[in-house]
Amino acid sequence: MIKVFSAQDYIEVAFWGNYLEEQGIACQIRNDFSPKELSERGGDEPWPELWLLKVSDELDARKYLASDPLGIKEQAPWNCSYCGEESDGQFAQCWNCEQKRNI
Ligand SMILES: [Zn+2]
Repeated sequence: MIKVFSAQDYIEVAFWGNYLEEQGIACQIRNDFSPKELSERGGDEPWPELWLLKVSDELDARKYLASDPLGIKEQAPWNCSYCGEESDGQFAQCWNCEQKRNI
């Protein structure tokens, strides 16, 4: 087993887990607490981690992790014109108040 990825956002880790599985790389997510579990634990848990079952898959996995399957990494985060919260580039509306993105 080898850890190849970790992020605070479980959805991001789950995305890469699914993506690697689709490429034929067996992997497993650790520390996958739900937001509810996290708040019950005081929110001080380690980030979700993506582990490969086979160490020999590491090179391929890192190649995929460095790729950009959805074309989302090119889009810069943006700030909501209504509430000022920052959203990731791939979102067309504010995660916080659902205001549409001003282009
Ligand atoms: Zn907003």
